[in-house]
Amino acid sequence: MAIVSEQYGFNTLAVRAGQRRTEEGEQSEPIFPTSSYVFASAAEAAARFAGEIPGNIYSRFTNPTVRTFQDRLAALEGGEACVATSSGMSAILATCMALLSNGDRILSSSSIFGSTTMLFNNYLSRFGVDVTYVSTTDMDCWRDAMRIRPKLLFVETPSNPLTELFDIRALAALAEEYDSLLVVDNCFCTPALQRPLELGAHIVIHSATKYIDGQGRCIGGAVVGNAQQVGTEVFGFLRTAGPTMSPFNAWVFSKGLETLELRMRAHSENAYLLADWLESQPHVKRVYYPGLSSHPQHELALQQQTGSGGLLSFEVDGGRAAAWRLIDATRLLSITANLGDTKTTITHPASTTHGRLTPEQRAMAGINENLVRIAVGLEALDDIKSDLRRGLSQLD
Ligand SMILES: *Cc1c(COP(=O)(O)O)cnc(C)c1O
Repeated sequence: MAIVSEQYGFNTLAVRAGQRRTEEGEQSEPIFPTSSYVFASAAEAAARFAGEIPGNIYSRFTNPTVRTFQDRLAALEGGEACVATSSGMSAILATCMALLSNGDRILSSSSIFGSTTMLFNNYLSRFGVDVTYVSTTDMDCWRDAMRIRPKLLFVETPSNPLTELFDIRALAALAEEYDSLLVVDNCFCTPALQRPLELGAHIVIHSATKYIDGQGRCIGGAVVGNAQQVGTEVFGFLRTAGPTMSPFNAWVFSKGLETLELRMRAHSENAYLLADWLESQPHVKRVYYPGLSSHPQHELALQQQTGSGGLLSFEVDGGRAAAWRLIDATRLLSITANLGDTKTTITHPASTTHGRLTPEQRAMAGINENLVRIAVGLEALDDIKSDLRRGLSQLD
């Protein structure tokens, strides 16, 4: 029996949704590392395989620990169904494989995760799925682009590293009008700060690797949406093709969800205070963070998000050499491209996450050589500032 109802508040659901206590009376959720399940009789086995009675058969597609994570995340996003996957990328792949066919089109923001672009351009294109990119947040351009009649709209909001925002409500209305599906990668805000389904999106994607884990340990992903598209179609792909989340990872992610809102609020506060401080520092030309009133879409951030998250970037005086000098002078921050960790990370997008783009593509995307990205962690803010102050003083 499920222990909680949907009537509870966010943090109650985060802590308790999806738990099914066993006869052992355990307080913390158990891990079920089992590949298959036994039946009371041959007749019961036959009935389960035929789908006549519910129950576990094989952990490629159902596992009690994975189900706890799925039910908990579905409750937090306000979705009818959630399918957990082995990674964020396999969540995107499973969604596309389940819902698209040869001849269908995707209309995507160009400011998306690099591997998502590779998946669209190098793999889906081979199976007759065309992708068109929109390189602006301007809704008139999106409306204009709808003439290609996309089956699926894809955005990441806020975007990485420039924290551009896409108006989920407006895009959802456009998707409805053209009978397409709006898919939102909610990796950076998580349901603690933004609930795309409530704003009209049809499907939410997660890389659980990031803030859902929150401590940089496991790779995983999830798709959340309605019972038909996600509960049946995406689940059907997972069941057959098997990009399955392991029970251990599901357990870590379920535990991550319990503190998600607390952590996201702390990440947001640290990031806001750091962004505000950076704006007044010598050698900092521009700071990108939706929580700043200088952000061109600050109003939209206040409308569709309840916090601004942990990701910010800034431009320094000079070019690549200056950005690298700053990064190399830090001692506390981790030089790594990952994010969503308690540990603050610092990276140079132009030579790492966006290094595979041509210089022209990078310029188009606004990823300049002097741009530095920080995923602000949960260390004492003064220590993060001191580390960056040492880096910035290298640019005197
Ligand atoms: C990391 C990331 C992904 C991919 O997730 P993996 O778990 O690394 O496969 C997808 N989207 C965004 C926005 C990400 O940051």
